[in-house]
Amino acid sequence: MRYWKKYSKKQLKKRIDQALASVVDFQNSKSLGYPVSKLDENVFNTNDTILNEAPLLKSFIANPNNIGCHTLGKSEEAFKGSQELEKEVIRVLASDLFKAEENAYDGYIATGGTEANIQALWIYRNYYQKEYKATLDEMVILASEDTHYSVYKGANLLGLENVSVPVDFERREICVEALESIVAELVSKGKKYVMVISNMATTMFGSVDDPDVYAGVLRKHPLQYRIHIDGAFGGFIYPITHKKSTIHFGNPEVSSITIDAHKMLQAPYGTGVFLCRKGLIENVLTREAQYVDGMDLTLVGSRSGANAIAVWMILFSYGYYGWFEKINTLLLRTEWFCRQLDALEIDYFREPHMNIVTLRSNFVTVDLAHKYGLVPESHDGQNQWYKVIVMDHVEIQDLEKFLNDLQDSLVDKTA
Ligand SMILES: *Cc1c(COP(=O)(O)O)cnc(C)c1O
Repeated sequence: MRYWKKYSKKQLKKRIDQALASVVDFQNSKSLGYPVSKLDENVFNTNDTILNEAPLLKSFIANPNNIGCHTLGKSEEAFKGSQELEKEVIRVLASDLFKAEENAYDGYIATGGTEANIQALWIYRNYYQKEYKATLDEMVILASEDTHYSVYKGANLLGLENVSVPVDFERREICVEALESIVAELVSKGKKYVMVISNMATTMFGSVDDPDVYAGVLRKHPLQYRIHIDGAFGGFIYPITHKKSTIHFGNPEVSSITIDAHKMLQAPYGTGVFLCRKGLIENVLTREAQYVDGMDLTLVGSRSGANAIAVWMILFSYGYYGWFEKINTLLLRTEWFCRQLDALEIDYFREPHMNIVTLRSNFVTVDLAHKYGLVPESHDGQNQWYKVIVMDHVEIQDLEKFLNDLQDSLVDKTA
């Protein structure tokens, strides 16, 4: 880990104060041209001494705008401080977590996984249009049936066809034979340009797709393809728990990655991360964005610099080793939970590097699912699965209570 360090509270506070000092100060300077200001002091308590010990609240009040992408070209001068911290976040994630080479990546803090996934599709669509004069009809999105619905939103917005690849019911793995026949059929229908969304932990199962499986099939055809990894949920878990993972920029098949900081990292909402290799993000340059100094390469326009500071604070409060320990604690709890389910002979799916356990619904009564806030796979009466996510707040005692109730309900059933 070259960049992912742990800083003391004092060091964190100092860096944030420095960053805010180089953000345009609406209180004391005369910034006449920006359509922004700090939060309204007539409404919010913006001067409390408590803020001195609360660097994130202070950042929200200073209200910097991290508009644009800061790994490339120039950026707005007015918000340099919070942009610098964002750049450090992107560097840690691209280099340390996903093994990118020095300065071989671009990225920004998007509003969430939805935006980051759509940003990827938008880049590839424009890339195929520019490089190959491809038409929309010649392009297709491929993703497993367990893929997040944001990909359907993206397909709809961008006018692209989306084809679902079936997975094995129990293993939640892509059916390679089905993928092969789907691709052969798409080629015969004139598709030439493919965008793959490969999951690094699906929302419902925590299942992980192997991008090399997609690549292996697509390579046999006269096709161009690019692979985007949707690690919205798994991005802060899987690369940590699976040391031999091949899902990173060291794998030439991987072109871009989504990670959400507002899920596992517990950052405030509005903190998804988009990462890609150099040379791709320029495909979505909006030339008309003339009032923004620097290039506008992002789907979102104005966005909160405080959010970037929040992610920075979390990463550098833990450091890599602190985060590693935290995730491994959750994994131990998940393993404990699975052993208990095994003892009760309950069927479930679990990816061994993830903290999601998805139970077959025939073992779980609707009442029990409600009582413990289990999330069903579908709300339409056809539900076959319920998931448990072992997050920070889910402790063994909580799991134990659930297991006791589950056992009682099983006894009821057989009685
Ligand atoms: C949550 C999630 C998303 C969407 O993220 P938002 O941050 O809610 O926009 C996309 N993909 C996966 C796998 C997710 O779990």
